[in-house]
Amino acid sequence: MQKITEVELKNVSKIFVNDGEEMYALRKVSGTVTKGSILTIIGPSGSGKSTILSLCNLLSTPDEGEIYVGEKEIREWNIQELRRYVGIAFQSAPMLAGTVEENLCLPLKLRGQSLEEPEKYLDFVGLSKDLLTREAKELSGGQRQRLSLARTLVNKPSVLLLDEVTSALDSISSQEIEELIMRINAERQTTIIWVTHDLNQAKRVGTQTWMVMEGSLVESGPTELFFSQPKDNRTKEFLHNLMRDSQ
Ligand code: ADP
Ligand code: MG
Repeated sequence: MQKITEVELKNVSKIFVNDGEEMYALRKVSGTVTKGSILTIIGPSGSGKSTILSLCNLLSTPDEGEIYVGEKEIREWNIQELRRYVGIAFQSAPMLAGTVEENLCLPLKLRGQSLEEPEKYLDFVGLSKDLLTREAKELSGGQRQRLSLARTLVNKPSVLLLDEVTSALDSISSQEIEELIMRINAERQTTIIWVTHDLNQAKRVGTQTWMVMEGSLVESGPTELFFSQPKDNRTKEFLHNLMRDSQ
């Protein structure tokens, strides 16, 4: 199958100013993500993983370099269109006050449209349609994450950014959400950029894997090779320590 590039980062840097001092949250990060693939991003806390995601749908703006999404530089996109094309879901699965249906329909309501057959979206993510009238904030963590993914799917995104979406869940819910995401990828050919601190998950689900440390991309490669034969000493040490801790 022909490989099409869906997302490309070219020498991307992001600078934050803390107490008047500039710090590079990301430094000259370059890489490509193939359409329909799953990129897993690992690295220590504070290394810049969430920052990479936030740049890909312009929740924040790069200070240096370019990011191409579907061949167009992100700053050339209409921002509403970009955010429909590139969906994002977070660990906390934030919900607004209101029912499940209101939360689900929000992306379309913002455009003055209504959602046909909301129950289909719930069904797809494994939630009962009886929940439509329930307060979203009353849902369990696992149900909230399903609803958060369903709400993203309403926009039919081509790219899905996932920031530690299973980290707050018990192991059964985590596994179910992981299966749901794999199904979204398989059935809709959605390109996925998946930040996770669960190394086994990164290894299980990834096509490619990136290791980010102190704002730099220190290693990238096909997931199997990345985990079986890491090259960079910093990657080796990181994998070694975390694998040891999880035993
Ligand atoms: P990760 O997701 O890998 O834990 P982040 O991308 O959240 O890391 O953060 C990378 C670095 O940038 C950290 O040092 C963090 O403190 C800093 N940072 C992130 N967002 C901001 C912000 N809005 N303002 C200032 N510093 C930030
Ligand atoms: Mg983060």
